[in-house]
Amino acid sequence: MSSALLDKARRTGELTRDEIIGLLALSDEDDIAALVAAADAVRKECVGDDVHIRGLIEFSNICARDCLYCGLRRDNADVHRYRMPIEEIVETAAGIAAKGIGTIVLQSGEDPWFTAGRMAEIIRGIKSRADCAITLSVGERSWDDYRIMKEAGADRYLLGHETASPDLYARLHPDSEFSNRRECLHNLRELGYQVGAGCMVGLPGQTVEDMASDVEFLRELDADMIGIGPFIAHPNTPLAECPGGDLTLTLKMIAVVRIVTRNALMPATTAMGTIDEFGREKALQAGANVVMPNYTPLKYRVDYEIYPNKRCINEEPELCDGCMRARILSIGRTVAEGPGHSYKRR
Ligand code: SAM
Ligand code: SF4
Repeated sequence: MSSALLDKARRTGELTRDEIIGLLALSDEDDIAALVAAADAVRKECVGDDVHIRGLIEFSNICARDCLYCGLRRDNADVHRYRMPIEEIVETAAGIAAKGIGTIVLQSGEDPWFTAGRMAEIIRGIKSRADCAITLSVGERSWDDYRIMKEAGADRYLLGHETASPDLYARLHPDSEFSNRRECLHNLRELGYQVGAGCMVGLPGQTVEDMASDVEFLRELDADMIGIGPFIAHPNTPLAECPGGDLTLTLKMIAVVRIVTRNALMPATTAMGTIDEFGREKALQAGANVVMPNYTPLKYRVDYEIYPNKRCINEEPELCDGCMRARILSIGRTVAEGPGHSYKRR
C-alpha cells in the first residue's frame, strides 16, 4: 500500500471509490495495522479520547418483519416473545440515568403494539424522571410516527441501513425495500433527529465493492452515528449455514468509515464482542468511540437473541457499568460525561 494514500486518508479523509476498495481489500498484516493506526489517529484528532456509554434497553422482541439474518424474525417460532410493560421500561431507564449514564437507547423489533402514542408516553415518562438523551431504534415507521416521537422528546434514532447494495438488500429483506429505508433515514434527519445508520460485514454474497457502497452511503448521509458489526449466523434462520463476518474485515471497515466520516459517533458493537473476547476494545482502537452496555432486565434479555452466544447475555446489569468503564480505561481512554450529543451538530 502506498504511504502517500494513507497519509492523504489520515489528513483529509477524501478517498475515491477505488481507494476505499483498495483499503478494504488490504491483506498484508503490516498494511492493516497501518490503516487501523491511521483511523485511531483520526479518531483522536476529530473526537478525542472520550468513549460515550449508552444504556441499552431491549424492550420488545416481537417483530412483524422477516429479515433473513435475524433471530427475532417473525417466522422464527422458537422465540419466547415478550413485551416489557411501559412502567417497567420507564423504571429501568430512570435507574440507568441515576448511574450517571447520559443516553438511554430503546430498541425493539418492529412491534405494532408500541404505537407512536405509546412510545411518546414512554419517552415523556423517562424525560419527566431523568435528565438524559433518548435514542430510539424501533425500525421503519411513517413520517407522522417519527414526528410524534420527536415531539415527545426523543433525541436520536438508529436505523441501520444494513447494506447499501439494493440487490443484496432485496435478497435479505423479503418484506422491505432499500428505497424506503433510505427515505426513513432522510425523514428522521428532516425532523431534527440525530441520525444513526450502519451495516453488517460479511453478509452472504457481500463483496468489498458492496462495502465501498456502504462507506459512500454513510458519507453522503453525513450520519451522526454509525454502527458496524459482523454478521453472525443464527441457527433458526434461512442463513443458518452461512459463515459469519470476519473480525479483521470488520476492523478494516470500521477504520475506513472513521477515516472518511471523521467525527461520527461509532459504537464498538456487541457483535464485535461476541466474535472476539476483546472485539470491542479492538474496535475502539480502530476508530470507535461509543459502547452500549445492555441494561435489559435479565428475565427478558435471554430472549432477545438476534444472533447466538450474544455477549453479556447473562451478566447482572449492576455489573455492566463497572465492566464497561474498566474496559475503556484499560486501553488508555476516558469515559465521557453528559448526554454525548452528535459532534456534527454541536
Ligand atoms: N428492529 C429494528 C431494526 O431492524 O432496525 C431494531 C432492532 S434490530 C435487532 C438491530 C440490529 O441488529 C439491526 O440493525 C441488524 O443490523 C442487527 N442484526 C440483526 N441480526 C443480526 C445478525 N444475525 N448478525 C449481526 N447483526 C444482526
Ligand atoms: Fe425485526 Fe429488526 Fe430483526 Fe429485522 S432486524 S427481523 S426488523 S428485529
